[in-house]
Amino acid sequence: MTDIRQQVIETALQMNASGLNKGTSGNVSARTDDGFVITPSGIAYDQLTPDHIVRMDLEGGYYGELRPSSEWRMHSDIYRAHPSAGAVVHTHSTHATALSCLHMEIPAFHYMIAVAGGASIRCADYATFGTEALSEAMLVALRDRSACLLGNHGQIAFGPGLGKALWLAGEVEELAHQYWLVRQAGEPILIDGDEMERVLDRFRSYGKQPDEIDGDDPLARDMPIRRST
Ligand code: 13P
Ligand code: ZN
Repeated sequence: MTDIRQQVIETALQMNASGLNKGTSGNVSARTDDGFVITPSGIAYDQLTPDHIVRMDLEGGYYGELRPSSEWRMHSDIYRAHPSAGAVVHTHSTHATALSCLHMEIPAFHYMIAVAGGASIRCADYATFGTEALSEAMLVALRDRSACLLGNHGQIAFGPGLGKALWLAGEVEELAHQYWLVRQAGEPILIDGDEMERVLDRFRSYGKQPDEIDGDDPLARDMPIRRST
């Protein structure tokens, strides 16, 4: 337990050190056997020690003295609705937040949009921070996706573990930045739905080694592995 709590702190520190977030905005959690552990509310990440990280169950109960992040419900609802989620990162990264204030989803202007699991990264409707309404809006935007923007607020991303969740939040911010720049220059030429299906198919094995891929490996179809004899 101490180990996973330490990893949550390190992820939160990295989130701020990499420029993805500032101050006490944002929050980080990781799934455990009986719920999850999450950063406490409103405490600077560089002040945290493992005993500050709050243990919660999936019914909203928490253990200990410190209050969990005000956004515990978004984290809890992701763990309940998405069995593949092992960790969640919420940030107010600059460009994702800027687009979220326009209630703008990020369309398929670049093939990397597929990192979040579909042909767009949606933006959830605005709702007050820390509320059930915000979490409900988020779940709609996260259907078949592992990241979304949150209207007038920021973004949220999940992955199988802390490293992948933080990586995805960084990808979402990069895509938001690129899309922001493209929109300054003109109207992007979007990738059509059939092509995005092909990209999504190839993403099933992107970044994985052959033994990590279930079934057919689209990246290996035209690239047979030669074994040395
Ligand atoms: P917490 O400090 O309660 O985690 O809140 C930060 C935040 O981003 C609220 O949306
Ligand atoms: Zn927030």
